[in-house]
Amino acid sequence: TLKQHGAHSLSLHSSPAAARPLAGCASHGDSACGHHKKHSDNQQRSDNLLILLILDGSRELLVEGDIVLPRTRNALVCPSNNCFWKKSSNGLVLVPFTVSNDFSSSDRSVIAGAMATFHSKTCIRFVSRTFEADYLSIQSRDGCYSAVGRQGGVQVVSLSRNGCVYHGIAQHELNHALGFYHEHTRSDRDRYVRINWANISPTMQYNFNKENTNNLNTPYDYSSVMHYGKTAFSINGQDTITPIPDPSVPIGQRVDLSAIDIKRINILYNC
Ligand SMILES: [Zn+2]
Repeated sequence: TLKQHGAHSLSLHSSPAAARPLAGCASHGDSACGHHKKHSDNQQRSDNLLILLILDGSRELLVEGDIVLPRTRNALVCPSNNCFWKKSSNGLVLVPFTVSNDFSSSDRSVIAGAMATFHSKTCIRFVSRTFEADYLSIQSRDGCYSAVGRQGGVQVVSLSRNGCVYHGIAQHELNHALGFYHEHTRSDRDRYVRINWANISPTMQYNFNKENTNNLNTPYDYSSVMHYGKTAFSINGQDTITPIPDPSVPIGQRVDLSAIDIKRINILYNC
């Protein structure tokens, strides 16, 4: 409904708790984000300049869209690959993680199920952390969010128990952590969607900025779990994103990784 959309944007926009973990990145942009981190090696630091926090919605916005910072890419541009997870000698890409005790056993089942799709379809393996320095800390904070790519050290993936613990949402956030941005910011998106700027609050329009993306030679994917919904950040209930030429094409699903989402992971990580 109109009220829900409006309230949602407001709540996200004024959600300091959610932004706090990486507030430097969220409020000050790339440079602040990079300088915020400490890394011994210069290349690592330069890659981290490209890493941004993605704050996705919670509750009713789950199928609607996300908040993302102005500089977005389909997949992270990372020349030395330091912002991606490392491949083991056996060809598997291990992504260590911990899960907060705040989650119930059924929450944990949802998260495990989301990870299982990556395991069965790609060379990504989410593994319980033992001593690894770089890992995901999956927590129930305020909203659904993740940084993009491997940051180095611990990085929070928030799946609020209050609206984010769903199969497709968990996959969406985990996919951010692997290095993927939102589909609708692709460089070629104007051939596939029309952005209805008049229906978007000016303060939220940056979420729809088109960027020069690394699309991994894969087609634009309406069915990507990383695509915004049609009314994401609408100020009037009307569509903010219209597929073209057929406006009835569904977009913004949060059910499961699409076939192309899976293909991209396999390309990016050379599975
Ligand atoms: Zn997102």
